Amino acid sequence: MERQEDVFKKIVAHCKEYGFVFPSSDIYDGLGAVYDYGQNGVELKNNIKQYWWQSMVLLHENIVGIDAAIFMHPTVWKASGHVDAFNDPLIDNKDSKKRYRADVLIEDQIAKYADHIEKDVEKARKRFGDSFDEAQYRKTSARVIEAQQKMDALHERYSKALNANDLAELRQIIIDEEIACPISGTRNWTEVRQFNLMFQTEVGSTAEGASRIYLRPETAQGIFVNYLNVQKTGRMKLPFGIAQIGKAFRNEIVARQFIFRMREFEQMEMQYFVKPGTELEWFATWKKTRMAWHQALGFGAENYRFHDHDKLAHYANAATDIEFRMPFGFKEVEGIHSRTNFDLSQHSKYSGKKIEYFDPETGESYTPFVIETSIGVDRMFLSVICHSYEEQRLPDGQTRVVLHLPAALAPVKLAVFPLTKKDGMPEKARSIIEELRFHFNCKYEEKDQIGKRYRRMDAIGCPYCVTVDQQTLEDDTVTLRDRDTMEQQRVPISGLRGIIEDKVSLTSLLKKLI
Ligand code: ATP
Repeated sequence: MERQEDVFKKIVAHCKEYGFVFPSSDIYDGLGAVYDYGQNGVELKNNIKQYWWQSMVLLHENIVGIDAAIFMHPTVWKASGHVDAFNDPLIDNKDSKKRYRADVLIEDQIAKYADHIEKDVEKARKRFGDSFDEAQYRKTSARVIEAQQKMDALHERYSKALNANDLAELRQIIIDEEIACPISGTRNWTEVRQFNLMFQTEVGSTAEGASRIYLRPETAQGIFVNYLNVQKTGRMKLPFGIAQIGKAFRNEIVARQFIFRMREFEQMEMQYFVKPGTELEWFATWKKTRMAWHQALGFGAENYRFHDHDKLAHYANAATDIEFRMPFGFKEVEGIHSRTNFDLSQHSKYSGKKIEYFDPETGESYTPFVIETSIGVDRMFLSVICHSYEEQRLPDGQTRVVLHLPAALAPVKLAVFPLTKKDGMPEKARSIIEELRFHFNCKYEEKDQIGKRYRRMDAIGCPYCVTVDQQTLEDDTVTLRDRDTMEQQRVPISGLRGIIEDKVSLTSLLKKLI
């Protein structure tokens, strides 16, 4: 079987070759951890955003959207705690001069133990065949027990160090676990240091007295500072939510894995304001709702899991991640946090404004608690592409690369080909597009053999192709070819919209959520 790293490299190359993702400033050899979306990438990305936005704002009467500016008053970041505590623990390898996040090195080590255990269990399953009792094996195998104990001990030590912000202990764990730099292979490590991730810039010219501002590292604060505006003007009653999609910036030190960790990225965040005391119930509800949103895409429940946080952020009283199985392991795509009333209280304190909710039912005023769902558009994009990519061997011995994108997310929904460039076929093909382009994204292609045109459409995940041939000119029927099964059927042109629209529309996806 092909190594997962090789598959991932192919996916990255595919994204560039087919106009999904390009390195930023490509002609200048790129800029670290910054990427541009191409002609197909932007469509896929927009569809992902639409799917999220509509699932929040269209399907919930009590959720509304906003679009706050990226630049915010600098005191916002003081109040939120980002100026003082938005840090990553960093460690350098002295030989390779490469920098790593100490917490990520240790988490990878924990994942290695878990991997050993799973491999061991898989081997045993093959050895014992049908009579294999997995639960019993996990309880009694000396090797599994030992690895499990080591993993648990490491996990506990790591959580403690992280919660105590004990940088020396984090380093000691790396030394004791004999973790080596993947580049140099040595264990020659520096001390662990903290590094603030916020980008700074200035507004106004120096002559006027410039003031230092930050590029927002999360979109959430734009929602908190607008809580009063939206609550009052929208006459919102608790519980209610505010949703927002926008760019965020973090000066990530360890920027690898393509668009998984970027310095400029996009977030889709929703803050749900609730009555104090009800937050953990709402936390559980949003965990379920968000998992259902992911799973409606049909990638298989086994590819998702929740990962509860070892270290709660200073503002949270519960937190979990939704992780997805990427080619490089299970990784966080979305965070769900119970943020208490920390942010609103802090903004009240720093701004001197009363930020509360008057509860008409009880006659009390209080600061609402907040449940946050926060997902990265780019990470979601990556998970969709990774899961959809397939190099498929066909019965005739040929191979094709196909993106099995969920039809509702696909950049192009229908491609229309004239079989030849003669006999009025191009005109007929264009007339089909003229009619259907109001309903979904269509593309016209007349270059190359039909087989080649199919391959190009498979590679961008186009769910349907239609070919106009001699018979079309006689009876107004076309062949409709399905991307995944490659089956073709003859259908009347007048029936195309009915067959395709239902399958490719966001509505069909959204209906799965209710
Ligand atoms: P990580 O632990 O991977 O750094 P995080 O826990 O700091 O992520 P959050 O602050 O919870 O991330 O942000 C919410 C979401 O924003 C993440 O689940 C992820 O999808 C996305 N995100 C965060 N940082 C980045 C980044 N540098 N590049 C792309 N997406 C990101």
